[in-house]
Amino acid sequence: MTIKQIIERVKENTPDVNTDLIELAYDFAEKAHAGQKRKSGEPYIQHCLHTAFVLAEIKADLNTIVAGILHDVPEDTKYTLEDVSKNFGEEIATLVEGITKLSKIKYRGIERYAESLRKMFLFMANDIRIILIKFADRLHNLRTLDALPPEKQLRIAQETIEIYAPIAGLLGIWSLKWQMEDICFKHLHPEEYKNIEYKYEVEQKAERNQYIQKTKNILSKKLDEAGVKHEINGRFKHLYSIWQKMQRKDRRFDEIQDVFALRILVDTVSDCYKALGIVHSVWKPKINRFKDYISIPKPNGYRSLHTTVFGLEGKPTEFQIRTREMDEEAHYGVAAHIYYKLDKKTPEPRWIKEVMDLHLNLENTQDFIKQAKFEIFRNRIFVFTPKGDVYDLPSGSTTIDFAYAVHTEIGSHCIGSMINDKMAPLDTELKSGDMVEIIIDKNRKGPSRDWLKFAKTSRAKNKIKALSKESRFEQIRRYIPGIKK
Ligand code: MN
Repeated sequence: MTIKQIIERVKENTPDVNTDLIELAYDFAEKAHAGQKRKSGEPYIQHCLHTAFVLAEIKADLNTIVAGILHDVPEDTKYTLEDVSKNFGEEIATLVEGITKLSKIKYRGIERYAESLRKMFLFMANDIRIILIKFADRLHNLRTLDALPPEKQLRIAQETIEIYAPIAGLLGIWSLKWQMEDICFKHLHPEEYKNIEYKYEVEQKAERNQYIQKTKNILSKKLDEAGVKHEINGRFKHLYSIWQKMQRKDRRFDEIQDVFALRILVDTVSDCYKALGIVHSVWKPKINRFKDYISIPKPNGYRSLHTTVFGLEGKPTEFQIRTREMDEEAHYGVAAHIYYKLDKKTPEPRWIKEVMDLHLNLENTQDFIKQAKFEIFRNRIFVFTPKGDVYDLPSGSTTIDFAYAVHTEIGSHCIGSMINDKMAPLDTELKSGDMVEIIIDKNRKGPSRDWLKFAKTSRAKNKIKALSKESRFEQIRRYIPGIKK
């Protein structure tokens, strides 16, 4: 991958864009990562370029692409966030900082943390572009996963499929979700993956291609006659969803993959309905299989017409009919909207709120991340351990509450803490996103009753009460006011 390829890709999206900043970012990152190698043996800068390229592909804006090139600088080189800020400005520095923070969250396969982690992920990313960069970064890491030791491959694949992919789905970024899922599927269930891939790519391929080609030829002619400009694609594969369907319905591959699917892209909404009419005049539609997501979009904003017909040789064939703009939205989800938004200063689309309503039960609001944060974090804070496990505590909780949330033994033996790598007393009130490391002393006899003054959770309070032994003198002192030490 070269910087030239990225610039070319960016110019495909916006021909008159000034790409000087991209070249500057490249020079800076290349110098910063000089001599560093990826586990695969490639120069490190390749990772930065691939990340940026994925962002260009999903049509992210210029600053996001620049931040994509710079995303590992503060974490992995001698240059700091201030250096990034000085050279590239506040906005890009904020994006890079967000990536650095996000990379501290880790999922190690313990299911009870998964939901908190997903929420944490949304919380940490003040700006949705940070999530896009993180996805692009992750996608390249997945593509080069083979270079890592097996346990690490599994951890990353599992984290991606349980944390990243659902968030990509929530935000409607299907192209990234599917790519991530298929790579993870390959690593998590290699046998099943090979099996399905073989059936899809080898056994079924010739028949499918032939069938799709014939259908295309018939339809294309009719659409031309009606003056409908169009493009017809055989739908791309997503092996993981085939497997999920097989699991869910307990069916074999050939029972699931018996429906051929094509997508018709046209210029206007009225052409969508014209094309639909043509499809239905050529082949008989299956009853109850027609869906008009143009009049009534799905909650995540998805728009398209769907119909299944008895196609050539009576084979069930599904058509998805939509405009190019709708297609772009279906691939890039929220990313497509951000792109337009930054470009045209249009307000946040309604559906973003609706998605969030659906998934996170939010109330009315405009700014979805802000609102998501408000709702999720209204009375809670999310704090993580140096390993990246997330703990969900009531707001106002202090370090001692966290220590008891992790483990009673940790609570009772703690003598201090490091919050975001700085020493901090046990009564420090924690904020969402804090990384807390508890310092323990094994020789400590037990908790101190003084801790009750700043313990907030009932768990911590009860443990402290139960485990701290009062001397007789202390007990008397508590009941008889006026006696001093
Ligand atoms: Mn990276």
